[in-house]
Amino acid sequence: MNQPNYPPPRPLPYQANVEELPWLSLLIDSYYSADQGIYEGIRRATQQGQQLACAKGCAHCCRSHTTIPVYPLELVGIYWYVLKQMSPSLQERLQAVLQQHQARQPCPFLLDEACSIHPMRPLACRHFNVFNTPCAPGEDAFYSRRHDVLKPLKKFQNAALEAMLPYHGIKHAAEKRQALKQGTLHSFAMVLQEIPWIKLSERMRPIKEGLGWDT
Ligand code: SF4
Ligand code: SF4
Repeated sequence: MNQPNYPPPRPLPYQANVEELPWLSLLIDSYYSADQGIYEGIRRATQQGQQLACAKGCAHCCRSHTTIPVYPLELVGIYWYVLKQMSPSLQERLQAVLQQHQARQPCPFLLDEACSIHPMRPLACRHFNVFNTPCAPGEDAFYSRRHDVLKPLKKFQNAALEAMLPYHGIKHAAEKRQALKQGTLHSFAMVLQEIPWIKLSERMRPIKEGLGWDT
């Protein structure tokens, strides 16, 4: 088999929102670069006889990982997606989870063994793919069998990071090269499990009360 058993990635389908939300185009570019690199990495591994173990409904990783980095632009994307794109019924369920979430608990966005913010899941989640055997409950394959974990292709990984830099005022090619070299973006990262998600749940409250977001 020469191809991963899923279709090649496409940019997130939010181009219509970009004029109103300029930051969104940066995130679309970033995630498209990352997704292309992941697809290519899986394709190459598949050619070498590896079989992707990740599949919908397989989600032990979302519980066993407790220090997932989230960059500021990704946080903006998650807020926007939850508040503006998610269905009201899912919002209501998620709101209840976010209200209860405490620092260092597993990711609150896992609902019904699926990522409720899948299009906007952070780079770290996108990049984490495991071959051959699905992770066991509690297993973090990064430590237990690194050889089965997809190694992100540097070119695409850097492009994904570079696309986020203008959000931090880093716009010129030389500045971007320097920022990538110094890992500037990493210094802005937060840990997903430690973000006070109750603040997002409070922004969701008007929906539950039937008031709408903009009132
Ligand atoms: S990383 Fe492991 S637990 Fe997560 S989807 Fe892939 S195989 Fe399943
Ligand atoms: S954001 Fe989604 S993919 Fe990432 S840990 Fe949470 S539920 Fe899993």
